[in-house]
Amino acid sequence: MADSGRIIVITGNGKGKTTAALGTAFRALGHGQKVCVIQFLKGQGKYGERIMAEKMENLHWFICGKGFVFSKENIEEDREVARQGFALAQEKIGSDLYDLIILDEITYLPHYDFLEVEFIVDLLRNKPKRLSIIVTGRNADPKLMEIADTVSTIESIKHAYEQGIKAQKGIEF
Ligand code: ATP
Ligand code: MG
Repeated sequence: MADSGRIIVITGNGKGKTTAALGTAFRALGHGQKVCVIQFLKGQGKYGERIMAEKMENLHWFICGKGFVFSKENIEEDREVARQGFALAQEKIGSDLYDLIILDEITYLPHYDFLEVEFIVDLLRNKPKRLSIIVTGRNADPKLMEIADTVSTIESIKHAYEQGIKAQKGIEF
């Protein structure tokens, strides 16, 4: 019988949340498991991980949104994109096709009042048994941390960006 899946939250201001989740994806894929990544509120940039994902048949990658806008003029558009992303997450979680689903940056939905955290909590609580879910993003709501089996906070001690070093191919994207 398959093991029960976990709920994992990776939060905090330091670098390494999305890449830690993708490290877990790599691990699961190595065992022949099926992985789904849903990225909330991200643009269509040429991220190395997305280019790689296109070449991997057991890794299905979905992008919602058009970038971190969070401007007052676009708030309704952002909210709609966030809701569409959440509906996609409901569909993929309910499909029971996957062993691991990564909800990358979903923590911003309740943080920016795009969606009440209870909807995400319910979705996680009712996941298929074998499925593991990783939630990433800053400012994770305490209710998300409470329902999780594993919670890690990545603290920023320093980041190259603060020393004027710009985002680098292969490291930041
Ligand atoms: P990564 O994708 O590298 O694992 P992350 O998921 O922890 O980072 P996010 O909060 O999603 O970080 O930020 C997105 C982008 O900002 C990434 O390119 C990341 O490298 C960069 N970043 C992360 N932390 C910091 C920081 N403390 N200062 C400046 N840039 C950062
Ligand atoms: Mg991230």
